[in-house]
Amino acid sequence: MHHGQMCGRHFASGQPLRLKWSDGVISEVSAGPADMSGTWLAPTLLDLQINGYGGVDFQRDDHLTEAHLLSAARQMRRDGCGRFFFTLITDEWPKLMSRVRRAKAIRDASPELRTALVGWHIEGPFLSPEVGFKGAHNPAVMRDATEADIRELRAVTGCDPVLLTLAPERGGSLEAIRLSTSLGIVVSLGHTNVSADTMRAAVAAGARGFTHLGNGIPQQLDRHDNILWRVFDTPGLMPSLIPDTHHVSPLLFRHMHRALPPERIYYTTDAMSAAGAPPGRYTIGSIELEVGADQIVRQPGKPNFAGSALKPVDGITRAAQMLGKSWRDVWPHFSQRPAELMGLRNEIEVGQPADFCVVTAGADGMLLEAQIP
Ligand SMILES: [Zn+2]
Repeated sequence: MHHGQMCGRHFASGQPLRLKWSDGVISEVSAGPADMSGTWLAPTLLDLQINGYGGVDFQRDDHLTEAHLLSAARQMRRDGCGRFFFTLITDEWPKLMSRVRRAKAIRDASPELRTALVGWHIEGPFLSPEVGFKGAHNPAVMRDATEADIRELRAVTGCDPVLLTLAPERGGSLEAIRLSTSLGIVVSLGHTNVSADTMRAAVAAGARGFTHLGNGIPQQLDRHDNILWRVFDTPGLMPSLIPDTHHVSPLLFRHMHRALPPERIYYTTDAMSAAGAPPGRYTIGSIELEVGADQIVRQPGKPNFAGSALKPVDGITRAAQMLGKSWRDVWPHFSQRPAELMGLRNEIEVGQPADFCVVTAGADGMLLEAQIP
């Protein structure tokens, strides 16, 4: 809807609000009627790691069309996520750049996609090839980042927000982090078994995120010193968590929320094409994946997960359940926190896109539905 108005209570303050918007932008925020129990207004969910959605695989399709991107964006919107980062995983660098170029040309030409697809996340190929740490990524095409790669990534993405996940133990990483940071690219560490010292050096060089903490790690870890302990012990990193109850167990999820300050945790689905679609066989690029009725995404015959089929709004419900909190407490982890990491604004205020969520919650405070008008 390009024009309209809506009343509800602000999810954080509880204040009754009346919002008006026109041409897809919020034009007025004023006091609303007091009797708005059960209808809440919240900033849209913002997911920094979307590999595909609703049957559309961003990685596989070198013939990606506007219809594909609109279909994925609209299904995400239905599930409470009005803004996302188009994410590609490890592949040959020229292929990654040509996919971004293609998707960006489509997106730049569409007002609807410009509101929804707000940035780019390149996860690989500068990652650890170690078993357990590599996850589902193909180690054969992993390599060190060069200055030319970083400059090309900046040139291809123009002025758009960019998140780059890399493993800082690879050669040339600190230079790549410094250059990325100077060019406005936000670096997140991930798929890494980096030492504590090099992790601190990476933060000093400008790295700010840690991609899907608790995943991209082996099943068995050294009890004295492992990548989780190192992240907990390193100030300045903002990890993402996948709140589907499978990628991070509820026990570890609760511990992570005690070990890290709340402003340093954000959520992502790491969704792939099966998210928002029925169980079956799907892909991320050339990787075949199986999605069961439990929504768990597996490589057939292997124990490791590869992306998730989690809907963004379900991530809120599950995070709240795991932590024994209200959906209102966890909502910022999936809306304002990721925006802060990327230097973006995501608030209900005049001038922001009208992609806020209308949340219908039951009497017991459980989140029932979050839709974008
Ligand atoms: Zn990953």
